[in-house]
Amino acid sequence: MLPTNSEPTKDITTKCLSKSDHALVAWRESNESPLHGECWTSSKWRASVRRGLLGWFKKESRDLPWRSDSTPYRVWVSEIMLQQTQVATVVEYYHRFMDSFPTIHALAEASEQEVLAHWEGLGYYRRARSLHAAARVIVEQHDAKFPCSYEEVIALPGIGRYTAGAILSISQGQRLPILEGNTQRVFSRWIGMRGPVTDRAATKLLWKFAEAMLPTRNPGNFNQAAMEIGALLCRPTEPDCKGCPVASSCEANRLGLQGEIPGKVKKVVYEDRREFAFVIKEKPSDSTIDSSRYLVRLLPEGVRWAGLWDFPRTTEQSYESALKAGHGLSAELGFMIVPGEKLASLRHAVTRFRIDLQIHESDYRPFPGDSWRVPKPWKFATVTELDNLPMSVSGRKIVDRIRKQESNS
Ligand code: SF4
Repeated sequence: MLPTNSEPTKDITTKCLSKSDHALVAWRESNESPLHGECWTSSKWRASVRRGLLGWFKKESRDLPWRSDSTPYRVWVSEIMLQQTQVATVVEYYHRFMDSFPTIHALAEASEQEVLAHWEGLGYYRRARSLHAAARVIVEQHDAKFPCSYEEVIALPGIGRYTAGAILSISQGQRLPILEGNTQRVFSRWIGMRGPVTDRAATKLLWKFAEAMLPTRNPGNFNQAAMEIGALLCRPTEPDCKGCPVASSCEANRLGLQGEIPGKVKKVVYEDRREFAFVIKEKPSDSTIDSSRYLVRLLPEGVRWAGLWDFPRTTEQSYESALKAGHGLSAELGFMIVPGEKLASLRHAVTRFRIDLQIHESDYRPFPGDSWRVPKPWKFATVTELDNLPMSVSGRKIVDRIRKQESNS
């Protein structure tokens, strides 16, 4: 149970406070913030935590490709890939991406399709599109050199306060704080902050704390170490407090509240949705064509997976049957879909939707008076051609399914 009526811990007396400590106490008192200990307003406490953390990081940090040569570009790419994605998944993508686009210039020169193809399977494709757009801005406005002022960096597409702080502190040693999933949890536990980390007051407090904790020398190392301890020891469940270098200073450990801190964030309520995708094979008028081709399109701006290729598919709305889904989609596509046999079903999640995707073989017909040519941006592509187009994970599974079917026939 949370000790909701307990007082914040007073670890210090005002007698032993330094000037910066007084400033923090004043800030604390002028802000309404959730229940937490006050240990961190003591510079001695902050110095001891830094020492423990940095000593541990020196010995235990993982050897990651973006750490060996931390140029702004390399750190930037890694930070964007690591958003919402585990390190273990990112490493392989990172190597491939850097091999193909070793410089900002190379990235800016590539087409969006090439960049998305390197991102396929990582999800959250908007990240790749923003990265590419930002590379073009850097080439046009900063002579292909990653800018070094916080204001210029945060103005780039896809870069927020956390990413700007991470890039500039790690690659250039600028004294900028960071706050992301791992550090939210670690910092909350260090200071015994009981509120959910997403509450406004909690966020404000944690940013202030992150800033107060930064050492003058090598702040990027501190930021990396704080994220690393969150990934390796101070895990969401079952943190390894016995092996933790800051256990003696940690308020959550002292109070035995590791399981309650950080406070629970309101759970996402998932919505079930049934969507349909249609596999439409071209009817070749020319009998010399020996490879089957399938109907796909480049998804336009403003829709899910913009910039990727996809089969005709319903989104935004749940349908009861393939027939109704086919009718619903026909007006949008500019031709009629006539659903046939079901090929497979797939379950996947997109944001807050749990999707049951039903895949049907289908036929298409023009509306009365129209020609049999499919309107742009639709086109027919062979399986080999589909292999070279960037697609979502579920789109790629449909291609694999078609390939299997072709090899069995
Ligand atoms: S003592 Fe436990 S809860 Fe505190 S920082 Fe270390 S691992 Fe996390």
